[in-house]
Amino acid sequence: MTTEKVDVLVIGAGPAGTVAASIIHQAGYTVKIVEKLKFPRFVIGESLLPRSMEALEEAKFIDAIKEKGFQEKFGAKFVKGNSVCDFTFKEQHTQGWTWTWQVTRADFDKTLADTVEKMGVPVSYETTVTDIKFNGSDSVTTVEDLQGNKHEIAAKFIVDGSGYGRVIPRLFNLERASNLQPRKALFAHTVDVRRSMADEPNRITAVVHKPGVWIWIIPFSTGVTSVGFVGDPSFFAEYPGTPEEQYRAMLEAEPYTRERFRGVDMVFEPRILESWSATTDKFYGDGFVLTGNVTEFLDPIFSSGVTLACVSAQTAAKLVIRKLKGEAVDWEKEYMEPTMQGVNTFRSYVMAWYEGTLDTIFFSKDQDPLIKNQICSVLAGYVWDETNLYVKNHNTALKRLARTIELTQILKQE
Ligand SMILES: Cc1cc2nc3c(=O)[nH]c(=O)nc-3n(C[C@H](O)[C@H](O)[C@H](O)COP(=O)(O)OP(=O)(O)OC[C@H]3O[C@@H](n4cnc5c(N)ncnc54)[C@H](O)[C@@H]3O)c2cc1C
Repeated sequence: MTTEKVDVLVIGAGPAGTVAASIIHQAGYTVKIVEKLKFPRFVIGESLLPRSMEALEEAKFIDAIKEKGFQEKFGAKFVKGNSVCDFTFKEQHTQGWTWTWQVTRADFDKTLADTVEKMGVPVSYETTVTDIKFNGSDSVTTVEDLQGNKHEIAAKFIVDGSGYGRVIPRLFNLERASNLQPRKALFAHTVDVRRSMADEPNRITAVVHKPGVWIWIIPFSTGVTSVGFVGDPSFFAEYPGTPEEQYRAMLEAEPYTRERFRGVDMVFEPRILESWSATTDKFYGDGFVLTGNVTEFLDPIFSSGVTLACVSAQTAAKLVIRKLKGEAVDWEKEYMEPTMQGVNTFRSYVMAWYEGTLDTIFFSKDQDPLIKNQICSVLAGYVWDETNLYVKNHNTALKRLARTIELTQILKQE
């Protein structure tokens, strides 16, 4: 078996893997990416958040992404019956990016992978990691190609960006169950010929369909729109038939989607995903760091996945560079804690969404613009800005605000 030597081996060519690879390569280290699939490949996760732009900028990906003409995204709209709550990223507490993109991930991820390859990072596609042996922080990884040929890669450090593949947690028994309830999604790309062009294309819309069930509507610049239902698996059991029959019946059952998506053509048969929430004991170890979905993935409601992937990769890459320079790195303080700070802030918002707390806040008639700006910053992905009380006190502030709104309504009625 041949053995190749690199400074850093990156597993997975998704956003986490490519952002980390680019930043480490720019610091002068030899990096190689191994990717199980051939790109372009389908993956869900199409709505980005402004905070991801900072990581994509540091990875020097922005110009290449701009050239692709993806749909620009300026906000997020929440709809329940006739009530609408619209967030515009320009009106937010944190100083930062005020826009981002809505992307078909197959094209977006291929753009990132092609760009990092042009920079000089080799990407081996259709190459799967099957085993890793650590000797201190040095490692030897076994990879296998489609023909079953095995090959070894010796590295001083491994960045695991393998997403739902969860390579290192699976190989080393680090997996842990999530504390979020299992949920299911049924989604497709629709040919959206009846799209309203006013505010529609430049934001994601999340429609509350029933308690605990919501719909994402993510328009792309091509005229195609991603539409997905998310909720408790019991909701989907109410709809008989094939995934397409279920999907069309669900679109018909929701007044917001009924007319617009009636009889639409679909780019692919509706697909199902379920029980995606997962986590890991610790996000680092001697000779490796976990980034992106491998650390923890929560829920699609606030489009946090790609942003957490890019930001964790950006943070991890800088620490890997310091480690390779021989500097001391406190992985717990400098990586695990900030990563969990972001994840836990989003977790509070995800829970508040499914418990109905955010319904009370989003659809209240008297909204305080300053509070709305603070919540908007969380929705823009600025979940590390502790000057924002809705970040700092993420686990109490939303409940307190909802209770105040409810009490005010009761007093008004009396
Ligand atoms: C229903 C649903 C909707 C979502 N919507 C959104 C959204 O709107 N916005 C958002 O930001 N996020 C969303 N997400 C989350 C998003 O899909 C992920 O968070 C994001 O793709 C994570 O990026 P990543 O780079 O960590 O992993 P990935 O993009 O999954 O990339 C990992 C790569 O690793 C490769 N790999 C796996 N195993 C191996 C192996 N053994 N060897 C080599 N390579 C391997 C895979 O082939 C893959 O290409 C959604 C998720 C779900 C379930």
